[in-house]
Amino acid sequence: MTYNTLDGLPPLREVINEHDLRAKKALGQNFLLDLNLTSKIARQAGDLTGCDVLEIGPGPGGLTRALLLNGARKVVAIEQDARCLPALQQIADHSDGRLKVLLGDALAIDPTQYLSAPIRIVANLPYNVGTELLTRWLSPPEWPPFWQSLTLMFQKEVAQRIVAQPRSKAYGRLSILCQWRCTTNLRMEIPPAAFTPPPKVTSAVVHLERREEPAFPADAKILNQTVAKAFGQRRKMLRASLKGLHPEIEDCLLTAGIKPTQRAEEISLEQFCALSRILKEAK
Ligand code: SAM
Repeated sequence: MTYNTLDGLPPLREVINEHDLRAKKALGQNFLLDLNLTSKIARQAGDLTGCDVLEIGPGPGGLTRALLLNGARKVVAIEQDARCLPALQQIADHSDGRLKVLLGDALAIDPTQYLSAPIRIVANLPYNVGTELLTRWLSPPEWPPFWQSLTLMFQKEVAQRIVAQPRSKAYGRLSILCQWRCTTNLRMEIPPAAFTPPPKVTSAVVHLERREEPAFPADAKILNQTVAKAFGQRRKMLRASLKGLHPEIEDCLLTAGIKPTQRAEEISLEQFCALSRILKEAK
């Protein structure tokens, strides 16, 4: 039977009723059932034709269907909840072999053997899994990583931290981690009412496009350590918060063009990178 939906598959509300996919809180399940909205999210990932897409947490497949509709060459989707498999299989049967579903925990599965470049990652995930995966995707042993871009849904506050600029409350470790190796954009907000069941918070979609080279040269480990210390005590002056990093930290700060009395949230990405290079040389 063909339905009057964008892709001819049953409406998502029918899919979740038919497969009894009542959302489980423990799995952070809040489903998007409007294919127009999931298509809009899929479009934020850029031109998908000629790209493989890695989707994490497809659930009943609202975003998966949109990724296929938007021309992805292949979608590899990792889902932890086996209850979703029949709904996802129905999409796979309808996709000319373009959908591969992997059952398991995205934190434990390496999907790269199923994917070919260029690869875009798209996900609507529970908050804790999302930030853990984001940190891993941004910290591979070699750069550039296996993926070209990340299009991720987070609660709005996390999305704001990813794109934040100096002198704002949201500016911190996550901003530096993301902006050092990617360009970042906050693309759209999604109100709780768009989800079934509605979560308590507003969500937002962020898009990160990898830089082939980091924005400024720095050693990833030293940069990470410096930023962690600086923002770990963000109200303190840097000469105090970074004290443990070097016996002559004030000189190091001055050489990097930073006043020792400044605080972490006033320091740009470029300055943090300059400071890490000086700390590396001064070791
Ligand atoms: N993408 C669907 C949508 O937009 O309607 C579902 C989104 S729901 C917020 C998150 C999905 O991620 C759920 O289907 C949940 O079962 C799955 N999930 C949660 N933790 C996961 C993990 N560690 N690995 C893979 N999937 C996970």
